[in-house]
Amino acid sequence: SKPLVAIVGRPNVGKSTLINGLAQRRVSIVEDIPGVTRDRIYCDVKWLDREFTLIDTGGIEFKDERDQISSGIRQQAELAIDEADVILFVVDARTGMTADDETIAGLLRRTGKPVVLCVNKVDSENQEMDVYEFYSLGLGDPVGISAVNRLGFGELLDRITEGF
Ligand code: GDP
Ligand code: MG
Repeated sequence: SKPLVAIVGRPNVGKSTLINGLAQRRVSIVEDIPGVTRDRIYCDVKWLDREFTLIDTGGIEFKDERDQISSGIRQQAELAIDEADVILFVVDARTGMTADDETIAGLLRRTGKPVVLCVNKVDSENQEMDVYEFYSLGLGDPVGISAVNRLGFGELLDRITEGF
């Protein structure tokens, strides 16, 4: 079957916005339960002659208690490590690098799996320098995108699919 690409990252970095932006079809999973994400958690993506399945392993996010956020992030990262062919690690150019980003990066570096580091919320050209601090995560060249403005998707898709 198709390669599996798992999205990981802290809450609010834009994972759901990205998955919705990359999805070709508007079929949503809607759960009317507080704390459950109200949008798609997976989709099939076609790029040139390549196809893959994108999954938001952090479909359930606990937004109130600090402890639950941390364990949620950890569980999400561990799921991704086990099942993914490529891990898409999303960080936020607006907030800059955080301690949780460094924790996730540490887990991902130890997996040996391919990781694409995606810096979201680079909404305009004059914010492109915001990607540079993320080199220190040790995960290679970060790709700057704006999920809301659908900028940088071509380069991101090239990087995700380069081994497929
Ligand atoms: P998730 O928790 O990682 O799934 O993040 P969401 O996709 O729910 O987005 C969190 C917030 O960031 C929402 O208010 C989005 O509108 C906003 N957001 C997502 N992508 C971008 C972006 O490219 N630029 C900006 N400025 N905001 C964004
Ligand atoms: Mg989400």
